[in-house]
Order: sequence, then C-alpha cells, then structure tokens
Amino acid sequence: MVAGLFVSNFLACDARIDPSSFIQTRMAEDKKGLVIGIDLGTTYSCVAVWHQQHNRVEIIHNDQGNNTTPSCVAFTDHERLIGDAATNQAALNPENTIFDAKRLIGRKYSDPLVQKDKMLWPFKVVAGVNDKPMISVKYKGQEKILIAEEVSSMVLSKMRDIAEAYLEKPVKNAVVTVPAYFNDSQRKATMDAGAIIGLNVIRIINEPTAAAIAYGLDKRNDCVGQRNIFVFDFGGGTFDVSILTIENKVFQVKATAGNTHLGGEDIDNRMMNYFVEEMKRKRKVDISGNPRALRRLKSACERAKRTLSYAVTTNIEIDGLFQGIDLLSSITRAKFEEINMEVFEECMETVDRCLKDANMEKSSVHDVVLVGGSSRIPKMQQLLQDFFNGKDLCKSVNPDEAVAYGAAVQAALLTKGIENVPDLVLKDVTPLSLGVSLKGDLMSVVIPRNTTIPIKKEKVIVTIEDDQYSVRLPVCEGERVKASDNNLLGSLTISGLPPAPRGYPFDVTFTINENGILSVSAEDKVTGNRNEIIISNDKGRLSDAEISKMIKEAENYKSEDEKFLKKAKAMNDLDYHVYKIRKALKKEEISSKLSWKEKEDIMSKISRATDMLDSQNEMEDIVAIEDFLKDLKVISERIIMVMEKIV
Ligand code: ADP
Ligand code: MG
Repeated sequence: MVAGLFVSNFLACDARIDPSSFIQTRMAEDKKGLVIGIDLGTTYSCVAVWHQQHNRVEIIHNDQGNNTTPSCVAFTDHERLIGDAATNQAALNPENTIFDAKRLIGRKYSDPLVQKDKMLWPFKVVAGVNDKPMISVKYKGQEKILIAEEVSSMVLSKMRDIAEAYLEKPVKNAVVTVPAYFNDSQRKATMDAGAIIGLNVIRIINEPTAAAIAYGLDKRNDCVGQRNIFVFDFGGGTFDVSILTIENKVFQVKATAGNTHLGGEDIDNRMMNYFVEEMKRKRKVDISGNPRALRRLKSACERAKRTLSYAVTTNIEIDGLFQGIDLLSSITRAKFEEINMEVFEECMETVDRCLKDANMEKSSVHDVVLVGGSSRIPKMQQLLQDFFNGKDLCKSVNPDEAVAYGAAVQAALLTKGIENVPDLVLKDVTPLSLGVSLKGDLMSVVIPRNTTIPIKKEKVIVTIEDDQYSVRLPVCEGERVKASDNNLLGSLTISGLPPAPRGYPFDVTFTINENGILSVSAEDKVTGNRNEIIISNDKGRLSDAEISKMIKEAENYKSEDEKFLKKAKAMNDLDYHVYKIRKALKKEEISSKLSWKEKEDIMSKISRATDMLDSQNEMEDIVAIEDFLKDLKVISERIIMVMEKIV
C-alpha cells in the first residue's frame, strides 16, 4: 500500500526535477536562452555572465562601479531603494532598511535562530500565517508587510537590472547559489524569490561548489585523479568551510561546517568598540548610546578595514561625530589584528574541526580556496596558510566574486549555443541527518548528514507493545537528539502487524534518488505488509496564488520605481533650467534685450518652478512638471537666441 502522499524532494541536489513545483522551469535539463549566474549573499550579492567572444566569465559591475552590491532594500516616504542606495541611507532610516533577508528565507518565525536574529535587527519581524516570518516596514506613510522571499526578489531584480544594463538585452534565466547547508525549504524559497520577479531560477548550486568550479576551471588541465578542495568562505555575516572532491569533472561536497554568525561585521563591530573606547579615553565622551554616530563610525571602520588589507596603517576621520566633536585617529594593521585575533582564531578552530569531521588529514588537501570578502584579510590568509603547512592559497579569482564566477560557468553550461565551456557534473550530499522519531522522542538517524546521494539505507525497528497492530513513524531532519527539536518532514504508518510480543521487528528503508527525492518505506518481511511515502517538505512553500499576488506587487513596485525615476529626472531638468535662466537674466546685456512683458512672464514661471522644486516632489504630478518643463525650455531657447544676437 502506498500512502500516496507525494510532494517534493527533500534534499539539496544541484540537479533535480521537482514535479510538484509551481515553476515549470525547474525542468532544468533543457538548455535556455541567456542564463546569468547570481551569488545572492547575506550581505553582498554579485552577478556574472559567460562572455562568448572572450570565452571567459565576466563579473558585472553595478551603476556605482562596484562588483558586489549590498543585499539591502530600503523603503522611504517616496521610494524604494535597493543596493548601495539603500545602505547609504541606512543610518537615517534604520527601521525601514532591510538586510539579512537570507537569514529568514525558508525559515519559520518560531525557529530559535529567527528569534535570536530578530533581537539584533532594527526592522520589525512579526509572525504571519503558517508561522511565516513577516517584515513590517513603513512605505509612503503606510505599513507594508513583506516576506523574506519578496526582499530577496528585490535584490535579485537589482542584480538582473545590473546584468541587463551590461548585456543590453533582457535576462530571464539565472543560476543562483545558496550555502551548502541550506535545506530544501530554504532552496525552494530562493527559487520562489526569483519567480516573484519573473526570473527563472533554473538551477540552485552550492556556494562552495561554485567557488570550486571557478578554480577547477583554472586547473582543468592538471586535474588527474581525485582532488580534495578546502573552501574557506569568510563573508559579511557568515563563515562557512566545506570540503569538496573533484574527480573526472564530478564535484562533490563532502562536509560542511561553520558559524552562521561570524563575519566581516563582527570585525567592524570590534573596530567600532575600539574607537568608542578611544573617544571615551581621549575626548571624554561616550557615543555608545547614539545610533547615528555608531552607524557612521561603523561605515568608517569598514572602509578602514578594507584599506588595511593592502596598507599597513590607515586614518579614520569623521567630522562632527558626536556633540560637534570630530574623530581624527588612525589604526595600524598590527592593532587591527590584535583587536580581531579571537575572531581569526575561532575561524581556525572551525577549519580544524571540519577536517576532523571529514576524517581528512590536512596533507591530503590539494587546494585551499579563498571565498568571501573577509578572506582578503592578510592575517586570516597567513593563519590559514600556516595551518596548511605553508601551502599556496588559491586567490587568482577575487574571493568575493568566486561564487558568482562559478555560477556563471554553470549558467553557461545551461545556455543554448554556448560552446567551449568545460563540462562539469555536480553531485551533492545530505545537508542534515535524516531519521525517524522513536519512543521517548528520540531521533534515530538513518542517513547521517553529509552522506553522498543517491543513497539507500535500511534500519530495523521494533514494536514497543505486545500485539501492536500498527506503528506510526514520524520522519525528521536535523542534528538534535530530541526528535521534536528537529524538522518534521512527514510520517509513515505501517499496519497489519501480526499478534506478537513487543520487540517484533520490521524494516525501515530511506532512499534518496539522483534528483534528491527522499522516500521512506516500512516493510514487515514476515507478512509482506509494506507502506511508503515520498516526503514533502512544502509547508513553508508559497502557494501559486501567493506567488501570483507577489508577481503583481513586484510589477507595481517596478512601475512605481520607474515613475519615481522619471519624476526625479524631470525635477532635475527643471532645476537645471531655472538655474541657467536665472543666471542669464542677471546679465545686463541679456536682460536689456528682453521686453518688460517678457521678463515678467519669465519671472513668474521661474517662481512657479521654484515652488514646484520646493514642494519636494510631493504634490506635483509628472505630467504637470513635464508640461512646465516644456515652457522653461522655450524660455531657454529664447535666451539662447538673444545671446546669439549679442555675439
Ligand atoms: P557575503 O557574506 O554576503 O557573501 P562577501 O563575501 O562579499 O559577502 O563579504 C562581505 C564582507 O567582506 C564584508 O564584511 C566586507 O566588509 C568584507 N570585505 C570586502 N572586501 C574586503 C577587504 N578588502 N578586506 C577585508 N574585508 C573585506
Ligand atoms: Mg558569500
């Protein structure tokens, strides 16, 4: 008897087909038109594409000329901002500036990690339907509720815009990367984020795998036998290490470890505390209670930190930081290293642990790959190099671009008509242990985490009562000993067991196929009774209706953004013409050539234009502004005519 409960795959697999999915494009095997690679990071995102003419990956810079863009979205009384524009105003508008959406995606509100993070965020997170975390912001004077998928969709839309501006054509498909430990629900939520803005996420790949691809490409000629790759990803808010193997172009994640709350921001915070103490000591002021001053100090510390990655000393100068007092100071690389030594040491302990967990000697590691902006810190690199007995670290690809680089290679493999991309196959491991909940709420692991898929494993389970007719088995994922602390995926019941004393045995089999779909079966070998379920984990998933609603909203945002831009541009033009005309009128030789009536008309129009500019975009509608702009342009032309006559 088959329980008939079919839904989706449980597991993180780079190549998979999910028949229940809303997004048809998950049938990832057909090659697509143009596909881009996006590293959707916790703090920064990066986009890249395969350049056909040059036969290599191109990292695409944003409108500010930066190769990475903050994964940040802000809402104001007038507009929505994404990326650098959002972070630049964060100090003034902290409650409505959303970052870290990746920490929320695919999680429940009651998840202890969400509860902990919530305390640290300046924006409000509340519980929604189905225990979904919702972010509450004020936008155009009204409360707006968002889910993490929507915030991520906005970041993705920014990354797509960056790519479209560079490629000068529309982009519909992307390969998006996620941490290796992301569970199914987090991966699917990332796909949903794409769907909201009409971006087909045709493949999700693991960040360390993407980074290894970036380097694997370099090494493709001397890749004989199995290579063990150690990926050290030290980013903005997270630290992840992974061990991968590459053999015959097959990439496999073997083990992952890390700390989801350790990254560049901790370093910024430690530097900030150092200067807060310095201000106390030298200037006798305590700025620790002033959020705006702290925010400005933190930005300055981040800049100084980046400088210290190539210079041995740097200055910090902030005018009027607190009560009119300036901060004028400097910091050496040695001091910086001293302040952050504990952070670096913690990273190294994790490195050691990951190797031990994977049962791997450090001497068997062939390549150590640096990923994440914080891995640019020289001290971090030195400690890592020393740990691996002086081994050269892979840093030919920029660490904060390596993940997007690999995603773009995978994207090229999925793009129709692109030749000369080395063929790679990606395989994966189970990110979490899988098992059943037994008597006393005990998690009995059947497939341990980090097991390579596909896999089939059996376990014998016994009844706990005499003459027990049926047994219900909850199936869970997670590392906790108490099953109820883990994630419940579904449950399976086997009935029709023959009358027997307690301890009657039957078999439970867990199977994960190439597509990552988990099925669990129970079989009584004596009677031949059997039951099987294919696990669903779509509780946190958005419904079709929810996605359609959000697609509509995303379109609304887009048209609002466009309207806002158009208006801002018209206001700018207006400002420019007012300035030019005023300046011209001040010149006697021009002014004297205009009739009294003409001058009066111009002055009244200038005064109306000034009113429009002063009204701060609020009341005026765009048609009125554009009409008025036409009038001013006529005046400007008239003035030019007068000037030509003078010449
Ligand atoms: P994410 O963790 O979101 O994937 P990144 O890998 O881009 O993001 O890492 C961002 C972090 O890297 C930030 O904390 C940033 O300050 C830090 N960073 C970027 N460049 C440097 C540098 N040159 N030296 C030190 N830290 C850097
Ligand atoms: Mg990253």
